[in-house]
Amino acid sequence: MNLRNCARCGKMFNHIGGPAICDQCKRAIEEDFQKVKQYILDNPRASLKQISEDNEVSTKQIQQWIRDERLMFSEGSPIQIQCENCGAPILTGRFCAKCKTSMANNLNTSFAKQRPVMQDPVKKDNKAGMRFLDT
Ligand SMILES: [Zn+2]
Ligand SMILES: [Zn+2]
Repeated sequence: MNLRNCARCGKMFNHIGGPAICDQCKRAIEEDFQKVKQYILDNPRASLKQISEDNEVSTKQIQQWIRDERLMFSEGSPIQIQCENCGAPILTGRFCAKCKTSMANNLNTSFAKQRPVMQDPVKKDNKAGMRFLDT
């Protein structure tokens, strides 16, 4: 048991992992999300403040959904999201497609550099063990 206070309602609950939010609140947030998602479809030109007020959902929560790429806005939307890396206008998430690609490439090259160093000792051990088993 890992009891924690829910970050939303303050109730004690058994925390399994992820954000410290109880099941009841998770369900309520999910309902809010569906409501906001539908609202954006019906009102593609609504501002963040308008969405927040009409749905009684905090702008912080809406921005969180945008960062998680759960909410997507159309080209005509007044809501401007900027790439956190280069500042280019984007429709959802945290980074533009260009930055995402270059970040993925950087990750791949650093993994490739690290791999031989990290795996070498394990490989040697395996070989030694197999030779021992063979003879
Ligand atoms: Zn709660
Ligand atoms: Zn960018």
